[in-house]
Amino acid sequence: YLMEKMNKDLQAVNLEEPLSWQAYNYAKVSFKIVGGTLSGLTIDPKSVTIYPSVKAPVEYSMQRSGTVPGVGLVHAPFSLLPTHLPESHWRQACELAPTFNELVDRVSLDGDFLQDSLSKTKQVDDFTSRLLEIHRKMMEINKEENIRLGLHRSDYMLDSETNSLLQIELNTISASFPGLGSLVSELHRTLIDQYGHLFCLDSKRVPGNEASSQFAKALARAWDEFNVDRFDGKTVSVVYFRAGYTPNDYPSEAEWAARLLLEQSSAVKCPSISYHLVGTKKIQQELARPNVLERFLENKEEITKIRKCFAGLWSLDDEEIVKSAIQKPELFVLKPQREGGGNNIYGIDVRETLIRLQKEGGDALAAYILMQRIFPKASLSNLVRGGVCHEALTISELGIYGAYLRNNDKVVMNEQSGYLMRTKVSSSDEGGVAAGFAVLDSLYLT
Ligand code: ADP
Ligand code: MG
Ligand code: MG
Repeated sequence: YLMEKMNKDLQAVNLEEPLSWQAYNYAKVSFKIVGGTLSGLTIDPKSVTIYPSVKAPVEYSMQRSGTVPGVGLVHAPFSLLPTHLPESHWRQACELAPTFNELVDRVSLDGDFLQDSLSKTKQVDDFTSRLLEIHRKMMEINKEENIRLGLHRSDYMLDSETNSLLQIELNTISASFPGLGSLVSELHRTLIDQYGHLFCLDSKRVPGNEASSQFAKALARAWDEFNVDRFDGKTVSVVYFRAGYTPNDYPSEAEWAARLLLEQSSAVKCPSISYHLVGTKKIQQELARPNVLERFLENKEEITKIRKCFAGLWSLDDEEIVKSAIQKPELFVLKPQREGGGNNIYGIDVRETLIRLQKEGGDALAAYILMQRIFPKASLSNLVRGGVCHEALTISELGIYGAYLRNNDKVVMNEQSGYLMRTKVSSSDEGGVAAGFAVLDSLYLT
């Protein structure tokens, strides 16, 4: 039915004409399938009418692989060969994964820390406020999550000036691409096995990547732990969120009610509301304050290792740092409490936004954090999009997956679980494959 509807809608799309929301959504899905995008949209909020860009049919007709409109396949964008990474940095990132998993768990248990750290943000950010509201309700009823499942991805860039691996962020909800990431590693190994001798490459230098099966294993084991004679065919044991991390996923009160219902349930939630909140940029910044890690971890060596990968992170109630960022905006990234790419502010926009927020007064600044901008070394890569390969100057971001499963006092699983390399043209500020900035990649140890 969906395909039929999409076909009809696509045939009906006259790009000079506005589209209904429904037609737009079908068309968007169809264009995605054939590798095109409906870009450059202007939306008239009064009539909820959408005017698509006239560029769309060109992309559509060039990239479709099928003959029926709306039906076709296109590969995800990828890098033709893996990106070089020093083995020492690879080991460092892998070693951090179990500690970050444990840290997320410990922080998640400190409800007051989460509420206090986000209390100002709540005043100015509706989305965070709604999440905190659910969290507060759970605190009020002393809701306990005995079985806790985390499927995380900690992202890093290699800072060229200091040659250090610095964390970009820690994703605790909907960490993407364990599936495609594993496949790209396999693709690179296969390509090197076939043609590597031409470039003196050895496929053994591409680390194995079991991200998808490791995540599947963690989900299955959570189900296993939950299994206490309730399979009456009705009880839901594990809830995995592949959505719910952006305000767009909650278009009405119904979605918020569903989120609350899931949170109230006894099912294992990946993530629970607490795990979700631990992954916010604000908590990342709070954890980087002096003596905060010590509240959650005992092992001094682990604390030192974690702190070593923290970039400069600042709350905007620090007037000095706001002043510095207005003076030298190119050295900072301004981040709101959002996920999924495309939300951060860079360069001259940092200055303008900070000045505007200062004028607004109140707690307007509290919706954001400031982060030191990391500058990785650029190198040449071959990027493949829509079947076409082109060379570009690129930078890369390494993501390390971590799976964590705990049942009361028993840590069932705490592992580094594969990786994801994403590579983007060096002139682009943002990352994100789905957001259209980066390509999937893997790594080659040097
Ligand atoms: P999101 O949760 O939306 O993915 P991120 O913090 O990962 O937010 O930022 C998105 C992208 O912006 C990253 O993938 C990276 O390419 C870029 N970025 C984020 N922080 C920095 C930074 N401190 N320095 C340089 N680039 C950054
Ligand atoms: Mg994120
Ligand atoms: Mg990110």
